[in-house]
Amino acid sequence: MTPVRGKVEILRRVYLDNNATTPVAPEVFEAMKPYLLEDYGNASSIHWFGQRAKNAVEKARQQVAKLLNARPGEVIFTSGGTEADNAAIFGIVQAARVANPHIITTRIEHHAVLNTAQALEKRGVDVTYLGVGSAGVVDPADVRRAIRAETVLISVMHANNEIGTIQPLEEIGAIAREHDIYFHTDAVQSVGKIPIDVEKFGVDLLSLSAHKLNGPKGVGAMYIRRGTTLRPLLYGGHHERDRRPGTENVPGNVGLGMAAELAWSHLEEYGRRVAALRDRLERSVLELVPQVSVNGDPGRRLPNTSNLSFECVEGEGFVIAMDLKGFACSTGAACSSGSVEPSHVLSAIDCTPERARSSIRFSLGRYTTEGDIDATLAAVPAVVERLRAVSPRYKTVGTRG
Ligand code: PLP
Repeated sequence: MTPVRGKVEILRRVYLDNNATTPVAPEVFEAMKPYLLEDYGNASSIHWFGQRAKNAVEKARQQVAKLLNARPGEVIFTSGGTEADNAAIFGIVQAARVANPHIITTRIEHHAVLNTAQALEKRGVDVTYLGVGSAGVVDPADVRRAIRAETVLISVMHANNEIGTIQPLEEIGAIAREHDIYFHTDAVQSVGKIPIDVEKFGVDLLSLSAHKLNGPKGVGAMYIRRGTTLRPLLYGGHHERDRRPGTENVPGNVGLGMAAELAWSHLEEYGRRVAALRDRLERSVLELVPQVSVNGDPGRRLPNTSNLSFECVEGEGFVIAMDLKGFACSTGAACSSGSVEPSHVLSAIDCTPERARSSIRFSLGRYTTEGDIDATLAAVPAVVERLRAVSPRYKTVGTRG
């Protein structure tokens, strides 16, 4: 197939949208293959086929536990990050023996958490949504101030998916412990990118998703600290220690296990290499293109994420123009029913709607190369210039050096 879109021939494709999803690592694919073709048993069956599958799932559980510094018995497989977030939040609130439960979360959570909190609000649960300030980081003192006698759960994400900012989990975990309140973190964006330690963070529940760390889509896991009381989301068989019923997704879980092992063995090198590429990309864009600003605290970010606002550039237009040249990146704005709503994350860090609509997220990955960054840097200035040339606002605002 000729790599052509429209009339422009695309010589190389560059994928800088790894926070959306990542390619499956070849090692992960190879590890999964036997469990699709040969070792296809049901992990609950007592025969040879079943035991092969069960052993593979238990190995995967150990691999995931190691990446989190957890015990294998504290890891439950799910269908992804969304299910893990729902199961953790609904699970704790529904099991709580409090007449008017209250939970604390933040304004920058993923919709898997935000919409779960909103669903609980409709059932009479009180929710506090903490602000994060322009840095995009929660102040632990705000968490402490929000605690009430009825607070049953604190849910604060580890790293933000749009701007990459890393939250002070250790401090929040200490506050949660002091008040004997369960603490959940959505670590979907951080697992596999930066070190995770459930003991150090003091979390009771953690959500993760395989497809963000070069594993398969539709697979995730939940860390549940031993002794945590939560009601399951689903009812069925006695799988996953009665925490999550349903026939185990053996190939998927094996894939997540291998992805966790790869991440564990390359974590330091990944962080160093990807941060260097990201920093070069960001520094050079700031040098080459006028009127660009960085969103979120640059000193407290995932190593792979850069969220930039290009003044007077409409984000969707930029993503489409880059796509036509073979580059995949994304905008911080979600398009709903024809109108482009500014992202809730960028609004929470005090971006004006204009600045939010002009924001672009570049998210690098395990397979990003120096050549990918060179090619991106060769493309971005011309795309920005072309979009600004047709921007009525740019004509009035003008160039301000
Ligand atoms: N939480 C965060 C922070 C995410 O970035 C995502 C996915 O984008 C999710 C949760 C949902 O995970 P999944 O796609 O596995 O349902």
